[in-house]
Amino acid sequence: MPIQKNFEDRLTPVLASIVEHYDTPFHIYDEEGIRETGEALNQAFSGIAGFREFFAVKALPNPRIMQIMKSLGFGFDCSSVAELTLSRQAGVAGEGIMFTSNNTSQTDFQAAAADGGCVLNLDDISLVEKVPRMPELICFRYNPGARRTGNSIIGAPLEAKYGVTHDQLLDAYRLAKAKGASRFGLHTMLASNELNYSYMVETARMLLEMVAWISSELGIRFEFINIGGGLGIPYKPEDAPLDIGSMAAEITALFDAFKAQHAYAPKLFVESGRYMTGPHGVLVTRAINRKEIYRTYVGVDACMSALMRPGMYGAYHHISVLGKQGNDETVDVTGSLCENNDKFAIQRPLPRVADGDILYIHDTGAHGHAMGFNYNGKPRPKELLFRADGRVELIRREETLDDLFATLTYEDDVLVTGKA
Ligand SMILES: *Cc1c(COP(=O)(O)O)cnc(C)c1O
Repeated sequence: MPIQKNFEDRLTPVLASIVEHYDTPFHIYDEEGIRETGEALNQAFSGIAGFREFFAVKALPNPRIMQIMKSLGFGFDCSSVAELTLSRQAGVAGEGIMFTSNNTSQTDFQAAAADGGCVLNLDDISLVEKVPRMPELICFRYNPGARRTGNSIIGAPLEAKYGVTHDQLLDAYRLAKAKGASRFGLHTMLASNELNYSYMVETARMLLEMVAWISSELGIRFEFINIGGGLGIPYKPEDAPLDIGSMAAEITALFDAFKAQHAYAPKLFVESGRYMTGPHGVLVTRAINRKEIYRTYVGVDACMSALMRPGMYGAYHHISVLGKQGNDETVDVTGSLCENNDKFAIQRPLPRVADGDILYIHDTGAHGHAMGFNYNGKPRPKELLFRADGRVELIRREETLDDLFATLTYEDDVLVTGKA
């Protein structure tokens, strides 16, 4: 992946000085790479009027990163009150925010409607009755179940908890319309880390077919379709990157055909998280222990609190050792949690690692820091931004014990039950 290589080529010559200044561990994100990816995405889809990326905030919920997204013209995809708050603090509101929640609470609805509102994407037909006030513009998340249209690439998300079924879809829009909605969108999210671009083309085809069908049945018009996130990135060196150019060209052709037939076309929205930032971050950590038992373990000063994906999903993250090449030995790279899945790599060929060596774990720019947790009382690390002008900026400090213990300061509150 050329952009990633470019990041590595710019980062490695200065990494020792960054480590000296900030100390390990830290995630560092590449502003130039994020901008290049964002501009390439906008360019690829420039043939579709009104194309817009809504950055999935959960991938990298850092205000400094969100400023970059905003400057690229992106909106934000949110699924929680905290993400809505961050998006509004970033200066984006109203139709610049898509709120795609699941198992939505009244608190969620209130937050969605506050401060200029947002585009509400309902996850279930029952929510039409539960939303305190039906907004003018409403969207539903579609779960196609066993697919009914097009080709067979899209699987059967029958077990996914998300969305409105095929049989509920017409009624969902009919009810929303009866409740006062007059502008409509249609959303789905079926992929995760998908490297086959045809999957996204088929998703767009399916949504356009649904839009044509619902429009003719109900006499409504759709302002947008949102094909969700899930665009993949090449985590493994042998993975081929997603062919965004072909994907955009084929989706643009679908929109042209729709327009030719219906004399208008909806806008196209996507909500990528991983694709936008994943390759543009690394977790930098120092080897602190080397342990030879039945296997060789390289112990580093970061743990799962900084990156859950390997432990949680068995996900592959490539690892490099600063200044060393080769596959001298096969090791497990571990954190310090009392959990045996606290490993960044299992039986990985690496150059021989000595205490003090700097390792960088690739592709931690999405669902990395954000997913970290505090089990065992391990603080999450700091985040840095490697700016296009070569400056390195602290964009989040590391957690302290005071942060971890903050919820232990509270007002006395005792409920007496039974006989007192
Ligand atoms: C997580 C999520 C995304 C982003 O997924 P990526 O794999 O990071 O692109 C987009 N939309 C919704 C609704 C999500 O839940």
